[in-house]
Amino acid sequence: MPKIVAANWKMNLRRQSACELVSALKAEGRKCWLFPAFPLLGPVADTLIGGGLRLGAQDVSPEPDGAFTGDVSAEMLVDAGCELVLVGHSERRKQHGELGDLLARKLKRAAEGGLETVYCVGETLNQRKAGKAREVVKEHLSTLQGARKVAAVAYEPVWAIGTGETATPAQAEEMHAFIRGELKTLGLDVPILYGGSVKPGNARELLAQAHVDGVLVGGASLKLESLRAIDEAALES
Ligand code: PEP
Repeated sequence: MPKIVAANWKMNLRRQSACELVSALKAEGRKCWLFPAFPLLGPVADTLIGGGLRLGAQDVSPEPDGAFTGDVSAEMLVDAGCELVLVGHSERRKQHGELGDLLARKLKRAAEGGLETVYCVGETLNQRKAGKAREVVKEHLSTLQGARKVAAVAYEPVWAIGTGETATPAQAEEMHAFIRGELKTLGLDVPILYGGSVKPGNARELLAQAHVDGVLVGGASLKLESLRAIDEAALES
């Protein structure tokens, strides 16, 4: 199975810069998964039509349509052209206090609304230093109990996100193998992506690991040159 390159654009880009990037990726025949901010979903959806790119949102409401000011339902995201959604990203866990129960409701709602999920897990530096990395990841994974329509799990050690620090390929491989085993006990056989300061300079080595089925890229996914180089590394792995 080809390795996956997913781009988390976070709260970056504008209509023009996002659409230019998407047009270029489409013209090159790339098959990345793109996660733009909400206001960019419509224009990006229109731009990627006819190519192999897949569109996803960065968040989904745990509620169906209704009186939830500021929220966006799974059905709205599907209507906007999304097939995928991120759930459990560490920035949402930390900045918005999103924890197990809420995340489980988001996973359920996403599936009911017709979205596939990329579910993110990962330990902080303190937790790793305390020897608790596996315990934390296992706890994050337990939220997937009974989950449907899981497109992928992303292992994103919090200490490597946006910091320039990357897990070594050996660290990534070791945790991915652990996650693979845990997913099996949950009855899930899905790709496991690595995320955390993936760049053109380290992507090839990370993607060469047997249990690394792809990458979730933040900062380096905002520019065509770096995203292209990472995608080339994935295609050659
Ligand atoms: C992310 O936010 O999912 C991420 C991996 O970011 P970065 O690549 O910038 O570390």
